[in-house]
Amino acid sequence: MKDIKGFLSLILDSIADHITVIDSTGTIQYVNKSWTAFAAQNGCLIKETWLGVNYIEACDKASEVHDDYGAQVAQGIRSVIDQTIESFYFEYPCHSPKQNRWFMMRVTPLVFEQVPYFVISHHNISERKLAEEKVRNLARMDGLTNIANRRYFDEFLNAEWRRCLRLELPISLAIIDLDHFKLLNDTYGHQHGDQCLIKIGQLLKQFVNRSSDICARYGGEEFAIVLGNTSLTDAQTLLGSLLEEIAHLDIANPSSTTQSYLTASIGLSTIYPSFGAHERILIHQADNMLYKAKKRGRNRLES
Ligand code: GH3
Ligand code: MG
Ligand code: MG
Repeated sequence: MKDIKGFLSLILDSIADHITVIDSTGTIQYVNKSWTAFAAQNGCLIKETWLGVNYIEACDKASEVHDDYGAQVAQGIRSVIDQTIESFYFEYPCHSPKQNRWFMMRVTPLVFEQVPYFVISHHNISERKLAEEKVRNLARMDGLTNIANRRYFDEFLNAEWRRCLRLELPISLAIIDLDHFKLLNDTYGHQHGDQCLIKIGQLLKQFVNRSSDICARYGGEEFAIVLGNTSLTDAQTLLGSLLEEIAHLDIANPSSTTQSYLTASIGLSTIYPSFGAHERILIHQADNMLYKAKKRGRNRLES
């Protein structure tokens, strides 16, 4: 082949990965077509004049305007240049207004005519990241009701407890247990019971709108709601409405010895987290209150 250089250049330009080569000062010596095109499509001011630009300094500049990834990238490249590490691998989000995107960046050293260079490639990994996110979300969901499962509830409660501790805020937890649900199953069958649990799950969703709140299937016919930064009185008001709305669903439970429709008992606990305390105490107190609500005749809130 006569023009091997031209041939190799064509190959590099046909690769979808964005590739650049820098020298040991960070100065760009080469960019492929994908690199230039991506920069141009993403509002980058540098369009055709990449050669001679200092890439590390550009990353430093980005980190000054609150791009934390810029700082990590600059640090990674410097570590490869000074041989602290052999190569650098980094995954980072790069979302556009229309699309969530992630890239994987790799920095590898090479030596050409005794001069060290560093190849930086960016590979689009959005498909994998989106699939991972999907799996993560699925693992957090209860299969029947499509609200959070117990595992995610535990995680969420722990995080919210710590946040409220740090900010000296109250946190409320309600455990909601459906009344005489066994009798409903016995009357209409388990499948009908499942449909009722789905309806309750959908209703609970409407009561948690803030990022500090969550509703979850706690187990069987028990549900739970966490309300971060919520006082006892505010939680009482919200859960009072929830009891009313459950009644409004008007789900028949004719065998129940308390009401002829499906009702719930709720145990509520509100605490200002303190150092040394554990979120278990919140669950324990809510459980005690639930026991009291059942004992006092069901279809009520105790706190
Ligand atoms: P109480 O008012 O004391 O809470 O009475 P209960 O009948 O609701 O409570 P109990 O603990 O005696 O029974 C719970 C019932 O909930 C029995 C169980 O079959 C039913 N249950 C638990 N999980 C599911 C589920 O996934 N689907 C259906 N259909 N029923 C369930
Ligand atoms: Mg129960
Ligand atoms: Mg029950």
